[in-house]
Amino acid sequence: MLYKIIPLKAILGTVENKRINLYTEIMVSPLKIVEFVLDILFPKFCLNCGAEGNYLCPDCLSLIEVLDRQYCPFCFPPRIVFAGTCLSCKRTKKLAGLYCAASYENFIVKKLIHQFKYEPYLKDLAKTLSSLIITHLQHLNKVNNFESFLLVPAPLHKKKLKQRGFNPAQEIAKEIAKALKIPVINALAKIKQTPAQVELEKEERLENIKGAFICPRPDLGQIKNRKILLVDDVFTTGATMEECALTLKKAGAKEVWGMVVARG
Ligand SMILES: [Zn+2]
Ligand SMILES: [Zn+2]
Repeated sequence: MLYKIIPLKAILGTVENKRINLYTEIMVSPLKIVEFVLDILFPKFCLNCGAEGNYLCPDCLSLIEVLDRQYCPFCFPPRIVFAGTCLSCKRTKKLAGLYCAASYENFIVKKLIHQFKYEPYLKDLAKTLSSLIITHLQHLNKVNNFESFLLVPAPLHKKKLKQRGFNPAQEIAKEIAKALKIPVINALAKIKQTPAQVELEKEERLENIKGAFICPRPDLGQIKNRKILLVDDVFTTGATMEECALTLKKAGAKEVWGMVVARG
């Protein structure tokens, strides 16, 4: 969490502003009270402009264009599709399509993802980032289309997980699960340590990621004949998602769709 030293007067002002809501919040849930107290003690600030309230204030949120259409994940320049991967890419690709909330070129999106994934690891940003995905699904009018789906986070190698303390994809998946009311299954594991994909050329990325994932417990049959939403933070060339989709399909998954905050 990012902290700032707050003068006492400001804290008391915040208490006064929130006092009216306290009674209704107590009626709602004890968790709300905890949240309320934490908000007063450690107020959040917009990571872009510093306004108090949340990690992304309404003004800065309005500077993010949340996409209202889908593009083929593999065509460049991006090709608009009605849904899913375009017919020509479908011949060779495993991923059925991609839900992508925004462009990684947007400087606020880039900033948020950076704060989320790199030190000091603002894990709480999973809520803000997943809300962009939900807004994207609302724009597409598809929020209620996923009852038969399972969420599977793109996995981290255990060494990386230990170093960061959490898997960003899993944190986003947990938030999406709450909104869509569908389960998260950790059906994949990463068994090969790979250099960061951003440091490699496209061909190297494909080679680098080959055989990097397994389904550790295919015997459980959790994903057999199921439709999967494979969750990650950023989609770049799609090499990671394709390899994950291939692994899931080999283990019996019926369909694998990608779901990310941004496309790089
Ligand atoms: Zn702001
Ligand atoms: Zn295509």
